[in-house]
Amino acid sequence: MSKKKISGLMIFRITAVLIAVMIMVTQFGSEKVILPEAAAHSGIRSQIIPVSVKNTAVGTSVSGSVETTSTIALVSNESVKPEVGKKVVYLTFDDGPSKLTDQVLDILKEAKAKATFFVLGEQVKRSPEIINRIVEAGHVIGNHSFNHNYTELYNNFSEFWTQIKRTEEEIREITGTRPQLVRAPGGTYGHFDDTYFKLLEQGGYKVFDWDLDSGDSKRKGVPASEIAHNITSAKQKDKMIVLMHDGAGHGETVKALPKIIAFYQERGYEFRSLTEDMTPVQFHIDPKMKSKNRVNPSAAWVQSHVAPNAELFGSAKSLFVEVGGIETKLSSGEYELQNGQYIVPLRATMERLGANVRWNHKDRRAVISWGQASVTLDTANSIMAVSVPGQPLSQDRVTVEMRDGSLWIPLRKLLQATGHEVAAVTSNAEEIRVKAS
Ligand SMILES: [Zn+2]
Repeated sequence: MSKKKISGLMIFRITAVLIAVMIMVTQFGSEKVILPEAAAHSGIRSQIIPVSVKNTAVGTSVSGSVETTSTIALVSNESVKPEVGKKVVYLTFDDGPSKLTDQVLDILKEAKAKATFFVLGEQVKRSPEIINRIVEAGHVIGNHSFNHNYTELYNNFSEFWTQIKRTEEEIREITGTRPQLVRAPGGTYGHFDDTYFKLLEQGGYKVFDWDLDSGDSKRKGVPASEIAHNITSAKQKDKMIVLMHDGAGHGETVKALPKIIAFYQERGYEFRSLTEDMTPVQFHIDPKMKSKNRVNPSAAWVQSHVAPNAELFGSAKSLFVEVGGIETKLSSGEYELQNGQYIVPLRATMERLGANVRWNHKDRRAVISWGQASVTLDTANSIMAVSVPGQPLSQDRVTVEMRDGSLWIPLRKLLQATGHEVAAVTSNAEEIRVKAS
């Protein structure tokens, strides 16, 4: 019986593939053309879109990279949600910021166009001031990994994750917010497996591939005319995510940009930045990914790194701390989750719990008096000393962060130091609750 079912399914699949191939063959010659929904009749919400997938040699560096485009990927996810009557183009610039970014910003400003910049952490470190200019101009920053190194990024998921978090911290230090949008270096096709997609989604990220590749990374020095032609000769949909690069060596993209903008303006498109509430455009998983035998992260690693991460994004959850019969509430923004630990502002939290906090500016120490305990936080040496009458003085190392004049400290450590072991941490749709003895 099951045999019959399988063969039915197989026939369906083969038919679908044949239809797709036939359509592709008939459209041959216009590589960038977006095909109609071939599978629409089958009820499957999938579109067949020839997209250029970069096959950059493993480990290629970004600057002036030559990226070949050849493969055709099937796009499974529903494309950007259609909004009746509106034509929108989402210009995206990868691999920056670089010396070219300012020119891109000028052109966008002139056109009153908004865009999205998928930046590299190492470039952000080099040119933090450009990140500010991008944000101040009203564009959106996305995360494009730290170093774009395929060997590292696609070795296993935890390496990819590490680079995303590292870049995220670089950006947060500059802008105060964490980018939720992620673009995989080289796109997801041939790189992401199911684990990558699932865990990034679980961590609260939105992974965006693209609808149309400008081809500016196909090889070194693609001329502006060719880049513009790649865009203007392509069949357009009402919502288009366009891939371009503003990394070093992409001066020709900058030259092509006014023409590309004019093209979309003439056709009545609006220029917008990608948002996290859009349904992302994502490529199918390359079937070859199965044979990669990547080491998947352990359940424990996922539990501590990925599971709580989504709360970092726009969650309006409040954190309630219950200790010694007193309850205090920290609204979203008043606490943070870092590597599975809640970090809280010391004074605001402790005073609400009834403690007294004094700051000694000269030796950079905070002294917290709470009940019988006296905790001295030596911020210069990251040491927390606890003295309770009748008990030996205890000392412990602690991570302390100074932000806008206030000290942030891990909540659990703080509670432990003052003699309150955390008994339970619970979470529901509205709140997170930490109960200590
Ligand atoms: Zn890239």
